[in-house]
Amino acid sequence: MLNDIENVQEPLTAQRARFDDGPSCRFCDAQLRHDFVDLGMSPLSNSYLKPADLARMEPFYPLVVFVCERCFLVQLEEFESPDRIFSDYAYFSSFSESWVEHARAYTQMMVERFGLDPNHHVVEIASNDGYLLQHFAAKGIAVLGIEPAANVAEAAVKKNIPTRVEFFGESLARRLVAEGAGADLIVGNNVLAHVPKLNDFVEGLRILLKPDGIITLEFPHLMRLMEENQFDTIYHEHFSYFSLHAVRQVMAAHGLEIFDVEELSTHGGSLRIYVSHQARSAGARVEDLAAREKSAAVTDLETYATFGEKVKHTKRKLLQFLIAAKNEGKSVVGYGAPAKGNTLLNYCGVRTDFIDYTVDRSPHKQGQFLPGTRIPIHHPDRIRQTKPDYVLILPWNLTQEITEQMGHIRDWNGRFVVPIPEVKVL
Ligand SMILES: [Zn+2]
Repeated sequence: MLNDIENVQEPLTAQRARFDDGPSCRFCDAQLRHDFVDLGMSPLSNSYLKPADLARMEPFYPLVVFVCERCFLVQLEEFESPDRIFSDYAYFSSFSESWVEHARAYTQMMVERFGLDPNHHVVEIASNDGYLLQHFAAKGIAVLGIEPAANVAEAAVKKNIPTRVEFFGESLARRLVAEGAGADLIVGNNVLAHVPKLNDFVEGLRILLKPDGIITLEFPHLMRLMEENQFDTIYHEHFSYFSLHAVRQVMAAHGLEIFDVEELSTHGGSLRIYVSHQARSAGARVEDLAAREKSAAVTDLETYATFGEKVKHTKRKLLQFLIAAKNEGKSVVGYGAPAKGNTLLNYCGVRTDFIDYTVDRSPHKQGQFLPGTRIPIHHPDRIRQTKPDYVLILPWNLTQEITEQMGHIRDWNGRFVVPIPEVKVL
């Protein structure tokens, strides 16, 4: 009995060392033997709790990230089926004004650059509530959304955006092509990183794309994650973390070529890759970024080995700030209830002992509690009522939007605090 307990409490690294056949790379199948960062045990970051759930236990999973020594894909093991993770998703894209604007600007640029017109067919994978396809539909272009979360897909259908409630992969791509629904443009924003079966997904892209078609995919750039210490963007729903180097190999393995790349400011620094069937030559921006990644040594395991220490340092800085604020009798609340906030708060062990509550504009989250930390989520008006001394911005990528919307906290000398890349009082 005593032995059993000891076994359960043995550290993860020790457990792992006992297994020769540990996890393998989801792209190249090499064995994963190198940790990138260990964020301890964490619940699924989108598993918000209803009041009735507070009396129950929650599943926690190891949040350990590996780097593949062969292809340098940074990745998590899959602990939960995507079904369970994504079937009732609480994130509705349309609740972020800056994200809807991002989608509008993208649509305009794509229509102009590639001459898209009503003869073309645009398919978006992980189309959420139709926040993006609505802009193509408004230009008379035929659209199809693919969205596995039934609750958000329903919101898209209400906006007259045809939406299939399914996971995308080779099987769905073949069925769509058989139905004559091949794509001139496939859009995938923040989906590639969320795909556990990476090769099945990319093969699906190849199949669905018409011969002259174009794919654009957006995902956070690993180089920025590392440079700017964005460890909170690591969570179980987010399986892969790509450098251009890694994603280029993945595409090439499926006969696809990256012919252009843009570096975007979204989500703390993302890449938007432009992909086609092999034919176009790689543009200057691809070669430029490839060269910069090379100087940043993205193909050197040493580069990945130092990240974990940086993360621990950030945890201590955040706790130092919170402890000092509480010792001075100040009140601290959160703003936002994003997935990344849940990684940050769970990793740092910050609960209602430090943060009274958080707020979120999405009514789907209001009245619920953050997973693990069980911090209550209220309507943003709550901040005006309780006049806290500090507002910790959890979706730090939206800092500008939030400080503008919530500027009235200055009326009572309230201050905004941003946790990443390091704690800063604004
Ligand atoms: Zn690999």
